[in-house]
Amino acid sequence: MKQENALRHNWTKEELLAIYNKPLMELVYEAASVHRQWHNPQEIQISTLLSVKTGGCPEDCSYCGQAARYHTNIKVQALLPTETVLAHAKKAKDSGSSRFCMAAAWREVRDNRDFDRIIEMVKGVNELGLEVCCTLGMLSESQAQRLQEAGLYAYNHNLDTSEEFYDEIISTRKFDNRIETIKNVRKAGITVCSGGIIGLGEKPADRISMLRSLANMEKHPESVPINALARVAGTPLEHLPKIDIWEMVRMIATARMVLPSSMVRLSAGRIEMSEVEQAWCFMAGANSIFTGERQTLLVTPNPGVDEDMEMLKNLGLKPMQKEVKETCSMS
Ligand code: SF4
Repeated sequence: MKQENALRHNWTKEELLAIYNKPLMELVYEAASVHRQWHNPQEIQISTLLSVKTGGCPEDCSYCGQAARYHTNIKVQALLPTETVLAHAKKAKDSGSSRFCMAAAWREVRDNRDFDRIIEMVKGVNELGLEVCCTLGMLSESQAQRLQEAGLYAYNHNLDTSEEFYDEIISTRKFDNRIETIKNVRKAGITVCSGGIIGLGEKPADRISMLRSLANMEKHPESVPINALARVAGTPLEHLPKIDIWEMVRMIATARMVLPSSMVRLSAGRIEMSEVEQAWCFMAGANSIFTGERQTLLVTPNPGVDEDMEMLKNLGLKPMQKEVKETCSMS
């Protein structure tokens, strides 16, 4: 049973590290127990992610194939027509998705015609009865308000990594810029989707620090994507080793323990995980996955919807129906 007053917002690094470093079986058992107190462990939320504007981004995130400055083979695509996006959303709904996320490779939202078109898309997807999510870069308070009025349910803005390690990964913005946008999203009454990536060369202490930043927010993000680095050829991180599955499981289990009410989303890097490895992640408390059309997640490979549905069936899991909308409390 949910106990809203059981949520903590004052975790110390030592407490988090002690959880992260527990003997693995113990950690997974405890996380699975917490998962069962807060969620139906048989349900997995299926979210579809569509890149509505691809590549050509002025930022320098070292992990991203969409940064204009890296020589990747990603095809730049201008903002898609609204009708095309709505056709994708309809298809996603018909395939079992309850959330549709639109991503644009922008540094920040500008108050121009493209933003007006995003507003039209948000209205259209909302009318289809899907939870609408966007990830568009940095956002001002008034832009967040416009999105909320159009029916936006969630805004994705990942912390990426720890505050301490941030400059090693991105130089074109600061960790505080991320926090600022998240605050603007909250003020507008939109739910927050925020997590990060592991496998960037960070230490366990950085993972813990990132989780602590999320867990000590005044209100926990409703969604927490945990990504494994997708090593994109042409980016500075392309030669880093693949993240060990047990590190991923530890990260998910720790997220589940300290953010018990949040949806913990298994995101990028899933293509490199076997069904057994993904099952471990679900056991550790992951209860959401991204599917992308054409078997891509933005610009990196991802399992296809049919493959995912087959996996859920094999594991005795089922797609979650659309959540009852919560009213976000203003912070
Ligand atoms: S992660 Fe986002 S902000 Fe960073 S380069 Fe890629 S598209 Fe741009």
